[in-house]
Amino acid sequence: MSFKQYKYEKELTDLQKKESPDGSTCLISLYVPPDRAIAAFVQELTEEIGTATNIRSKFTQKNVVSALRTVIGKLKLYGNKSPSTGIVFFAGATSDSGHKDFKIESYVFEPPEPVSRKLYVCDNRFHVEHLLDRMVEKELYALLAIDSAKATIATLKGGNIEIIKSTRSGAAKKHRKGGQSSVRFARLREEAVARFMKRVADELKNFFIEAPDKNLKGIIVGGPGQIKEQVIEYFDKRLKDKLIGIKDLGYGGDQSGIRELVSESQDLLEGVSIMEEKKLVRQFLDAMMANKANYGEKEVRENLKMGAVDTLLVSKGLNLLRMKSTCLNCSFLQEATIKFEEESNYISEIQKTSCPKCNTLKWDIEKKDLILNLGYLAEETGARTEIISDTTEEGRQIQSFGGICAILRYEIEH
Ligand SMILES: [Zn+2]
Repeated sequence: MSFKQYKYEKELTDLQKKESPDGSTCLISLYVPPDRAIAAFVQELTEEIGTATNIRSKFTQKNVVSALRTVIGKLKLYGNKSPSTGIVFFAGATSDSGHKDFKIESYVFEPPEPVSRKLYVCDNRFHVEHLLDRMVEKELYALLAIDSAKATIATLKGGNIEIIKSTRSGAAKKHRKGGQSSVRFARLREEAVARFMKRVADELKNFFIEAPDKNLKGIIVGGPGQIKEQVIEYFDKRLKDKLIGIKDLGYGGDQSGIRELVSESQDLLEGVSIMEEKKLVRQFLDAMMANKANYGEKEVRENLKMGAVDTLLVSKGLNLLRMKSTCLNCSFLQEATIKFEEESNYISEIQKTSCPKCNTLKWDIEKKDLILNLGYLAEETGARTEIISDTTEEGRQIQSFGGICAILRYEIEH
């Protein structure tokens, strides 16, 4: 999983846990679909400010109005129209559960998958759920079902099949008509099938390789007989590189063939991300042999700060927090990495400890998920971050190195 994806999921699931002070309805969620006039939304929210005067609790009223003003301010930054996938805003006064204190927070998301419908809610929680399933960029696969008479090209994205094109070969049926020489008939038929395969390969190239914004993850070809293998010879080199499987089908080159291809290919589809992880872990192990890798939080953090890291590999199930405590009097900073469950103990310990530099007892304590903390550090130095699942064999290999590994840009002295 990419860092971008991890970050989205993490931010959204954290947002999902936030509550308003005393359960008051003052948290705003606004979903703006793609290419909508911003002015209309600004107007609508301005009207909501007017309606807010009816709210009985002055406390809630004040918070609703400031949340609305915050969103209006952020909306206006987008100019005339919402971006190509839309925008989602969350704003309002949140408090940690059980606490009286609150602060006004606001978040803006531009999702990788388009916002499907407009939504405005004022509630005691943020309505993140509609975004969670859209946050993850769905992977695009190309499908080709083919027999000597027909071919169908389709895409598969997040479980949705979309038919792009169906085409006929025009080649004669295998049984020749009377009067034709059998040799000549066979040759003509062969030529027609060859032209058909070339045409199909060109269609695939034009749609998946030449067209911009197509981030093709893989292509799967299926059908009865041998044409499914023969057609691959006509594939563009870039298309061939994306081939992840060939499946023998009962159906031919029509929509039933596509549906059968999808159900026969579940193993391949699940396997792609596992294969990518395998490759990364292999690269890490090779780099270890060549002294161009490192592991362990302290070591990797130093390498990151030096700009020596090419790829950072972290185990998804780390469940660690990076704590930063800053003295409010003299800015003395102390950092620590702790387990999730140690958080409240750690905080109460810090609050009891006076600053070693100026001896006062006032701390600003900031916590961050360790993966986010390291991932941001990697971003700053142009390193790529990959989150490795912890359920596979590859994942367990990364875990055996403490869950934090780095492939380095150059050889280092340990
Ligand atoms: Zn101090």
